[in-house]
Amino acid sequence: MEKSSLATSVVEANASNYTSGRKGYKISKITPHHMASVLTATQCGKIFQSANRNASANYGIGNDGGIALYVDETNRAWTSSSVSNDCQAITIEVSNSSVGGDYPVSQAAWNSLINLCVDICKRYNFRLVYDGTPNGSLTKHNMFSNTQCPGNYLESKLPELAEKVNAILDGTEKIPEIPSSPVYARKIGDTVTINGVYVASNSNKKLNPARTTGTITKIVVGALNPYLLDNGNLGWVNDNVIISSTKTPSTEPAKQDINAIVQEVIAGKWGNGVERKNKLTSAGYDYNEIQKIVNNKLNNTSSSKKSNEEIAKEVIKGLWGNGVERKNKLTSAGYDYNEIQKIVNKK
Ligand SMILES: [Zn+2]
Repeated sequence: MEKSSLATSVVEANASNYTSGRKGYKISKITPHHMASVLTATQCGKIFQSANRNASANYGIGNDGGIALYVDETNRAWTSSSVSNDCQAITIEVSNSSVGGDYPVSQAAWNSLINLCVDICKRYNFRLVYDGTPNGSLTKHNMFSNTQCPGNYLESKLPELAEKVNAILDGTEKIPEIPSSPVYARKIGDTVTINGVYVASNSNKKLNPARTTGTITKIVVGALNPYLLDNGNLGWVNDNVIISSTKTPSTEPAKQDINAIVQEVIAGKWGNGVERKNKLTSAGYDYNEIQKIVNNKLNNTSSSKKSNEEIAKEVIKGLWGNGVERKNKLTSAGYDYNEIQKIVNKK
């Protein structure tokens, strides 16, 4: 797999939405697009996971600056309405920070776009040239079809993007840091008012309810419509349709990518059993979904560390021997012998 090390997750597009290979073309261009939505990189990637969507991109950058790979760099994504452009380009969908008007982009997403462009230019050895034509190495969707993409804001910033990326390549400017600006984190129990559009629970049908206020009863991380209002009587919504919330925006960090949470669970940061379930649920995560991934990971990776509880059970079963042998085995496997022995003695 060819991907930038800046991509922290892979949300693989459905194979019906891109072409394998690049018809012999070399990668020599970058084409930034806008999502025309406010999404995380994972949420946008989910869209290209539906079969026969007939669209994809190599990368997505979320409103929070997160970067995900959707289509391996060795393959041609279907993004810019031009076979020859997309055979030569790495295409990048960038989230907007709000929908409509000039379709602005957050500082975090902009900085990630610069970083990703620098990384691509370095690895494929080209500079960004923006001359407003398809001949440049920085191209845009509306060169090839009648579309608003990449939106007025991003379009106006393309000359600056080329300038910044080249300056960083030349060593005269530094790579921008992604600001850790607080993003509103919605929680179960938040009462929200929506713009009248929601998605019915068991279909993709958009409905216009008479009722436009509901309470969030479930959150599915990584879903396109992550919030369920009132147990399905109202339906699924996302940040795009939420106008206001009864809760004051929180300054705590935005909800993390599901993979980051899985890592934390494995590292023991969310406790075990009921405690883990309660903690994850009240932080707005789908316990069952996360536990499934955790279990798969632990079963597939022999090098993954198990919890002290699990090891204590194995010790009791006799899997780690006795006395000095037990101590040595546990220690060399990276476990805290004393901690585990304490649990064993209790049991
Ligand atoms: Zn586009």
